[in-house]
Amino acid sequence: MEEVGTGLLDRLDALQRVAAAAPGGPVLIVAGPGTGKTRTLTHRVAYVCAELGVYPERCLAITFTRRAAEELRERLDGLLGPVSADVTVATFHSLGLSILRENAAAVGLSPEFRIAEESERITALIESGAASTEREARKLITNGVPGEHTAAYAKAMRARDLVDLDELLTLPVALLRDDRKAKQRYRERFEWIFVDEYQDVDPVQYELLRLLCPPDGNLTAIGDPDQAIYSFRGADVGYFLRFSQDFEDARTVRLTRNYRSSAPILAAAVQAIAPSSLVPGRRLDPARVDPEAPQIALYPAGSVDDEAAFVARSIDELVGGTSHRTVDSRAATPDGVGFSDIAVLYRTDGQAAAVVDALSRAGIPVQKRSHDRLRDRPGVAVIAQELRFASGLGGSIAARIRLTAQVLTERPALDAAVPPEDLWSAVELLTPLAARCGDDLPTFLGELATGAEVDAWDPRADRVTLLTLHASKGLEFPVVFLVGCEDGLVPLRRPGKPLTPDEEAEERRLFFVGLTRAQDRLFVSHARRRFRHGAERDMPVTPFLAPIDAGLFERRGADAPKRPKDRQLRLI
Ligand code: ATP
Ligand code: MG
Repeated sequence: MEEVGTGLLDRLDALQRVAAAAPGGPVLIVAGPGTGKTRTLTHRVAYVCAELGVYPERCLAITFTRRAAEELRERLDGLLGPVSADVTVATFHSLGLSILRENAAAVGLSPEFRIAEESERITALIESGAASTEREARKLITNGVPGEHTAAYAKAMRARDLVDLDELLTLPVALLRDDRKAKQRYRERFEWIFVDEYQDVDPVQYELLRLLCPPDGNLTAIGDPDQAIYSFRGADVGYFLRFSQDFEDARTVRLTRNYRSSAPILAAAVQAIAPSSLVPGRRLDPARVDPEAPQIALYPAGSVDDEAAFVARSIDELVGGTSHRTVDSRAATPDGVGFSDIAVLYRTDGQAAAVVDALSRAGIPVQKRSHDRLRDRPGVAVIAQELRFASGLGGSIAARIRLTAQVLTERPALDAAVPPEDLWSAVELLTPLAARCGDDLPTFLGELATGAEVDAWDPRADRVTLLTLHASKGLEFPVVFLVGCEDGLVPLRRPGKPLTPDEEAEERRLFFVGLTRAQDRLFVSHARRRFRHGAERDMPVTPFLAPIDAGLFERRGADAPKRPKDRQLRLI
């Protein structure tokens, strides 16, 4: 229990408490970043179980990533104790997977079905006549199988006892749509449904929710339309905006107190989103009042390398000289800034290399994560395949992964297809995830197939985190570096291809997500020149900084006004 002898909702403010303790029926919680959405949602689940007497097994909480699911589970354990294990906490994909496991026969699968590897999908596409070459098949995997071929493709997949990732959702939707009894069973089982990050629901996920939850059902959706950043994957913020039309007599609660960020960071974020805000009368009030809060550092770099060196130098200063580092970086500094408190965020994965390079040379340990699918990372699919073949082996999955990598590296025939460095970086990536799965191989393989790279992120590692802006969603760090704040990257745009207003608005929201990850210190930087689209180009600063008060920034670098405390002769 979190705090013995105190009420369940004591750690919430008045509005959060109203949201957490709302009665049954549809509830929409509209709230900006850092207002405690995730915290409120967790307490709501606990409240419903502990105070309304709902059986925990009747509760289904859906989060956007596996990581978020684990965090929710941990916090629920703290609030509810052992019975929290009976609450179903899932991502949409893992929910789809368990519905399919429970109804395998009904959709033409055996109980041992699995999620197809890419090569297996290619075979199925060719066999079904949807594609005639491997190249064509790969195109269909990226762009979708055309309608006239879907039935034949599905048949080929079922014949092999396989499903693809999309089918993890479309098959349960079809099942629940066609089978009233099955739908009724799930509606009774998941009498209470809670969804975090509802602004990023896509049409199939939405369809599944509508089937699971009647229009007057106990659905709590929580989110922030201004953080909708996945429309390129089919997410539609429209579902959030029309919640009250979809669900009868929906109650709306707003949370406006931000507990995360210092006042200057929050002010900048609110000004930055204003031109595109989807929330009428958007408000975010700082709960933190610290007159000494530092301004946002703004560093105009000459080049990408200069920018990366600035990040390395600043981290070194914050952590107090990395060359003195002994065991844990946190122990070394008086104000307790450790590597794990720091994140570097960027728009595209390709920007990471320069930062990794500079940080590594400065002796700063890093872990890099994107929002891409875990299985798309080189080395991961091979390890998954080998693990499956060797499923008779015992021991922890982490140990089995290391063994697998070793065996593969020593097998010369595979060298060409699997460079050993990819393999070992995959091992490093998968180890924390494996550790969390113990020796449960099916769960681990399910995670590999459905999870994003960011799910393998280890928040406890004493390393600086490198993330794409997309992957940073929902997370927070005391210190954030936002690099590459240049027009063309933020917003991301191909030369000569102007963005539509909707695309530009989404890019602005993504920038807003980045700014609002920071708690205490924010460093914004941009490079004046960068190699992009085959040429070295002049890069103007991002237009998204324009709405922000200049007074919130402190300029760094050669052309900045000299600061009295500049420590240029720092001893190493
Ligand atoms: P995001 O939109 O980025 O996902 P969120 O609304 O989900 O943000 P949380 O992650 O739940 O926000 O909370 C942000 C931070 O504020 C966390 O560190 C949380 O512990 C803290 N916080 C939330 N509510 C309170 C409160 N009532 N008192 C003190 N701290 C709080
Ligand atoms: Mg959250």
